[in-house]
Amino acid sequence: MTIARHDAIMAVTNYKPFEKPLDFSKTPSNKLFGANVFSDAVMKKRLPEKVYKAVRKTIDCGAKLDVSVADVVAKAMRDWAIEKGATHYAHVFYPLTGLTAEKHDSFLDPDGKGGMIAAFSGRQLIQGEPDASSFPSGGIRATFEARGYTAWDVTSPAYILENPNGTTLCIPTAFCSWTGEALDKKVPLLRSMQALNAQAQRILALFGNKNPGLINSTAGCEQEYFLIDRNFFFARPDLINAGRTLFGAKPPKGQELEDQYFGAIPERVLACMLEVERELYKLGVPVKTRHNEVAPAQYELAPVFETSNLATDHQYLTMITLQRVAQKYGMTCLLHEKPFAGINGSGKHLNWSLGTSTQNLLSPGKTPHSNAQFLVFCAAVIRAVHKNAVLLRGAVAHAGNDHRLGANEAPPAIISIFLGDQLTDIFEQIARGGAKSTKQPGVLSVGVDTLPPLPKDAGDRNRTSPFAFTGNKFEFRAVGSSQSVAGPLVILNTIVAESLDYIATELESKTKGDKKKLNGAIQEVLQQIMKEHGSIIFNGDNYTETWQQEAAKRGLPNLRNTVDAVAAMDAPQYAELMEKYNVLSEREFKSRNEIYLEKYVKEVSIESKLTFRIAKTMIFPAALDYQAKLVTSSVRLKSMGKDHCTSVLDELNGHMARLQNEMAHLDSAIHHEHKGGGVLDHARHMRDKVLPAMRAVRETCDKLEGIVSDELWPLPTYQEILFIK
Ligand code: ADP
Ligand code: MG
Repeated sequence: MTIARHDAIMAVTNYKPFEKPLDFSKTPSNKLFGANVFSDAVMKKRLPEKVYKAVRKTIDCGAKLDVSVADVVAKAMRDWAIEKGATHYAHVFYPLTGLTAEKHDSFLDPDGKGGMIAAFSGRQLIQGEPDASSFPSGGIRATFEARGYTAWDVTSPAYILENPNGTTLCIPTAFCSWTGEALDKKVPLLRSMQALNAQAQRILALFGNKNPGLINSTAGCEQEYFLIDRNFFFARPDLINAGRTLFGAKPPKGQELEDQYFGAIPERVLACMLEVERELYKLGVPVKTRHNEVAPAQYELAPVFETSNLATDHQYLTMITLQRVAQKYGMTCLLHEKPFAGINGSGKHLNWSLGTSTQNLLSPGKTPHSNAQFLVFCAAVIRAVHKNAVLLRGAVAHAGNDHRLGANEAPPAIISIFLGDQLTDIFEQIARGGAKSTKQPGVLSVGVDTLPPLPKDAGDRNRTSPFAFTGNKFEFRAVGSSQSVAGPLVILNTIVAESLDYIATELESKTKGDKKKLNGAIQEVLQQIMKEHGSIIFNGDNYTETWQQEAAKRGLPNLRNTVDAVAAMDAPQYAELMEKYNVLSEREFKSRNEIYLEKYVKEVSIESKLTFRIAKTMIFPAALDYQAKLVTSSVRLKSMGKDHCTSVLDELNGHMARLQNEMAHLDSAIHHEHKGGGVLDHARHMRDKVLPAMRAVRETCDKLEGIVSDELWPLPTYQEILFIK
């Protein structure tokens, strides 16, 4: 009998690199950066000055793009791409499920004389018409109006994707329906950035800055991931189909020695990382940091921050590149939030701020004036997060993240803000009406000269908070490793836009254009905000039980799973908020929530069927083989009149009997008839009946792993997957 697991171990231990190593001295990385991007420099060189300026105006100031320039840009883009070996172009878009989607078209068109000419018009650049019927729309679109439109996003540069057999020109696009409704993640992101800009402008105007240029939200996403040998991956149907292990006993050695974090990176892994970075450099993704993470076989990669839109597109490219390059090194990159039970999962810390091209608006300044402005923006975030904790929680809710949030390795499901002691102290003083400072000398009435300089990095870092101020940005740590950052960014931008709108309106009405009244007005508004929303601030350990109790007392929502979180988003105020700032219409918002619930149902459903199948066709038969061995030896011993202890057999029998019951139970939960009921009922059934039944099957199977003879065990174990490299 051959067992895939044994072949996998053999293959891993005999691993040899497939390809010659890269020669970095030939093409240094700085020469590579952006080599495959239709970048600013390329545009400047290849476009007539007038056209270049028009495009720049759209990118820098958010001005409407003049359609007449598109033809010129298209021609330049086509020539550039063909010089780089491209035969096809693709409008890349970002659907609501999965990563990116693309439809490739050849540059070549028949010339009518039996030949072909390279054609790519402005219209083809600006707009594509992929069939949208295979993408989820949550009932927005009937199949008879299946047409979807992709529209060129000028603010995210086109790039060349390489393949050994040719290259493709990729054009980032927004994807919407025939009726103009958003079907993707980019449309609402761009809309939310516009909303944020509009409201932030009003605040800067109050501070006398009438022409700051476009205010963008910025994002830097730290990606955690696992790299495991591909042979193990292919020997595990659960990893192949669900991206996580549905079985696996905790290994004797896990992460308890804490010898992994920042440890030396294994050679094959480092080689893979180097190539990932090189590929990302070519695509203009500014990757910066790499290191081991807490769990064995877990790593992290982080870029320098960019505007939210670009950072999001680059984040997709990062995930795709990690997966693609890992294969070349005989490995698989696992982006799932919890590939291994009992071992730390993966997150994607989303660092977020907002600013002009020259100023980070969440950076405390050196002067009282800029500090007052900083405190206004900071207070806007505090208010936004408190008012809309449900939305932020909802933005990170999906089946994979449910295994991670609150599991003492990631923040709990309760959204709170870590501000650090000093900043908290300042806000508390503001709440008291500008009382004497205890931590720093001086009277804290905002904007007067006695305001102490604010610390750039206040106090120690708190790694347990879901939403932490880290000196000049907020870090949203509840985001899952596999998800797009677009959703969380849309929510952040929109809720902060709403808060800035509120503050600007208050300040405008209190000052009525009189600058001398500004400081007093700010003091009043911030004081009010702290009174109403200060309870969102928590600097302590978010992993403790006492925080759960304290948060409940404060009335902070604790939405422990996807179903509760998405259901809570259904309250009318959230749809109204999204609609008010033209980010998502009520119909778009509701359809999205429905899609996310459907996705939850589908994912759990796939996992449940896999659990059943693996238990029944792989694990139970292995146990049966071992049982037969034990029985045979007992019978033989007995026939020889020897002692025969059956304690192992008895234990095994007990587990096998239980497993059969549990499998039957799971099977009936899977095939439960849903009489009527909407997707929410269906999702609740998955959470309350199917997941517990899966857990029961798993528990018994994991116990069997500790009993059944190792040579008969069919699945690569945690020990093998995580430690054989
Ligand atoms: P860590 O969280 O591990 O301490 P760093 O502080 O080095 O990591 O930075 C984390 C991420 O935050 C990086 O991607 C960095 O570019 C990003 N970042 C820094 N400043 C900003 C900003 N103004 N807006 C958004 N992201 C930022
Ligand atoms: Mg971080």
